[in-house]
Amino acid sequence: MKISPGVNVKILIVEDERKTGEYLCMGLREAGYAVELLNNGVDGLHQALEGDHDLVILDVMLPGLDGWQVLRGLRAQGREMPVLFLTAKDHVDDRVKGLELGADDYLVKPFSFSELLARVRTILRRGRSGMEPTTLQVADLELDLLRRRVTRAGKRIDLTAKEFGLLELLMRRKGEVLPRSLIASQVWDVNFDSDTNVIEVAMRRLRAKVDDGFECRLLQTVRGMGYVLEVPEKS
Ligand code: CA
Repeated sequence: MKISPGVNVKILIVEDERKTGEYLCMGLREAGYAVELLNNGVDGLHQALEGDHDLVILDVMLPGLDGWQVLRGLRAQGREMPVLFLTAKDHVDDRVKGLELGADDYLVKPFSFSELLARVRTILRRGRSGMEPTTLQVADLELDLLRRRVTRAGKRIDLTAKEFGLLELLMRRKGEVLPRSLIASQVWDVNFDSDTNVIEVAMRRLRAKVDDGFECRLLQTVRGMGYVLEVPEKS
């Protein structure tokens, strides 16, 4: 199922922080969605059961009912619309709990709007056809989103949080050349000056951890364009 952004796509946001809620509301409206914003779990659940939303964006910590209870209430009533969780907590337990309860995806605060929009688009494109895979794989490189663990050929690779985020982005979009500006906004949540080498340095470290000692080099620099993660064609 493919849904193009438009007023036909309805999104319900349940978020009690007024600023965050209004910011999301405004951004998503500008992106072409019909958006409704509520600030507590009781109204949120009621409205989600009444309405025909294509997606519900749920904050975890909410007055009335919390995000988990809203999600449970929805699923208990057989409502299968996708749910994206917003959470300030970055604990494995929360991720596992949410995904077990039937959440479709997770976003840890603070996040950039571009990241939220990318997730929203992915979820809408996917519909309820399938759960988000919890592991990403490219050749013998594996990234476990729940356990926040990376292995190559079965061997554990230790990454910093930033390196993990960087690798996750590259693996989610394998085969695509990602410009530095996109990497900066999605992983660092800022726009760097063009002369900074923060990304280059991080990429060099990541490449050493991921590719050193392997014949097949997965992480490649495309001169003047950006970075790509893919299995290189045999020459
Ligand atoms: Ca909250």
